[in-house]
Amino acid sequence: MKKNDIVKLNIEKTSSDGRGIGFVDGKICFVSGTLEGETAEAKIYTVHNSYLTAGITKIITPSPLRQYNYCDASGICGGCPLSHIDYEHQLTIKRAHVVDTLSRIGGIKNADSLVTKTIGMEEPVNYRNKMVFPIGKKDGKVAGGFYAPKSHEIVELTSCCVGVPCATNVLSCVIEFMNENNILPYNEKTHKGTIRRVFVRTGLNSREAMIVISSATEKIKNLALLIEKFKKLDLGVYNLKSVVLNINKEKNNLVLGDKSITLWGSGTIFDNILGFNFSISPHSFFQVNPQQTEVLYKKALELANLDKTKTVLDIYCGIGTISLYAAYYAKSVIGVEIVDVAIKDAKENAKMNSVKNAEFYCGAAEDVVPKLINGGTKPDVVIIDPPRKGSDEKTLTAIVKATPERIVYVSCNPATLARDVKFLEENGYELKTATPVDMFPNTEHVECCVLLCRKDLIEE
Ligand code: SAH
Repeated sequence: MKKNDIVKLNIEKTSSDGRGIGFVDGKICFVSGTLEGETAEAKIYTVHNSYLTAGITKIITPSPLRQYNYCDASGICGGCPLSHIDYEHQLTIKRAHVVDTLSRIGGIKNADSLVTKTIGMEEPVNYRNKMVFPIGKKDGKVAGGFYAPKSHEIVELTSCCVGVPCATNVLSCVIEFMNENNILPYNEKTHKGTIRRVFVRTGLNSREAMIVISSATEKIKNLALLIEKFKKLDLGVYNLKSVVLNINKEKNNLVLGDKSITLWGSGTIFDNILGFNFSISPHSFFQVNPQQTEVLYKKALELANLDKTKTVLDIYCGIGTISLYAAYYAKSVIGVEIVDVAIKDAKENAKMNSVKNAEFYCGAAEDVVPKLINGGTKPDVVIIDPPRKGSDEKTLTAIVKATPERIVYVSCNPATLARDVKFLEENGYELKTATPVDMFPNTEHVECCVLLCRKDLIEE
């Protein structure tokens, strides 16, 4: 078997990243674009000692679980690797992945009975409130869209099923402006040219929109004309509130540079999550699926079971979204976060929403949490929402030492969740329930909200 060979195979299972699994000459083969129950023809991409990878070239027998006509760029853009699978079945696959990792890595014997159904979206399209499109050249012309999988080759997009629909209108408008005014896209290799990216952010509940142009230089010819174009642009339900020029002169691949210049309107937009207002700047971290964020936070708070006697420690709090919501139900909340701008935003957000019972500390959780606990902070409930790499033993040890009744763990990576759950299970806590929440339909990502209770408080 070698690269580019065409093979025919039966797909027996679907992996959590949306690839079908079959066998070729006794070797396991992962085929993108297929799913269980299908017979397919596929082209071999890579050959390894113990497995092969391939991409679908023809479906011979389709599965009844196949989703059709999701997006014109399906299979080319790589952004939605589960988009060939019926949505309900995507939710089943995500749940199975959580059950599997909790049992395999977490050592949880009854995982299947503890993990609930995945909470999906009613309309799992156009959910992303933030879209970033790289700008470059394709066939000698200015082009923008996404990078093809594992490359920096631009896939042109005129519409996208993941982002809010107006985002691609903004992209087309910028490309038109560049063509009309002879403005060159930035070239990563030569470090020449101007516009690097188009970034669109919207507030689902506020209906506000922000457009950020990321550029390698401050000087862009006829910029005033671009702003006029933006003002006339169809943004659907959104109102343009902010146009920002972001400068990134460095030879890096960061989405944004440090310097932002407001060209028109305000430098920030607002959005409202569960009744709380948040001010969002181009650099702010803000959850990208606002509808499901509300579902996730409601679940986290339901599991936290707060009342006005409880002290909450919200670790990895970002701009304080969960903290402010929890503060409404609890006696007090302490938020901990490593990014100082996020902590500044969290404090501002608390003020703007008249929340007086939340305080915030900036620093690494592994340093700040042990200090707080050793200093006498006694949380009744700990909420943690770490990045993909999960938490760490220093932070978890400090949490255990504080003996909270409940730990609510919000995770974006089942593998690190399972590792941390194992540690907590070995140190006096018991996993009670886990709910996957689909924050990223049609992609392989799974968010999960779990409850651990102190073993000595659990009634048999
Ligand atoms: N709870 C927030 C943010 C979750 S994202 C929300 O729902 O919006 C995870 C957060 O953890 C990010 O804000 C990131 O900056 C922060 N973070 C990453 N490593 C950290 C560490 N070692 N200590 C504290 N915070 C950290």
